[in-house]
Amino acid sequence: MNVAIDYDETYTLDPTVWNKIINLLLESGHKVYCVTKRYEAIADDIKEALDIPIIYAMRSKLEAVNAAEISIDIWIDDKPQSIIPYSKPHKNAPFRGMGV
Ligand SMILES: [Mg+2]
Repeated sequence: MNVAIDYDETYTLDPTVWNKIINLLLESGHKVYCVTKRYEAIADDIKEALDIPIIYAMRSKLEAVNAAEISIDIWIDDKPQSIIPYSKPHKNAPFRGMGV
């Protein structure tokens, strides 16, 4: 299982708890990635806090992991709308951000 965790306002809300969860996932044979909307140039604190691969998403997070050829099974994120590429909302989309 590949798990993506956001940093700002997700991991940062309780690093102690998230470190336990990340370590449990890693020890159980899963992969965990930090996927952030930050620029790498301003991510020194993320690099210092986490010992997992960091993916910097300049557009949507889904596009960033696709570019890195990683398929995420589970997303942990305080802003799920940052995962899906932005598109004009389709009139029948069940929720905002889903377009065609
Ligand atoms: Mg966040």
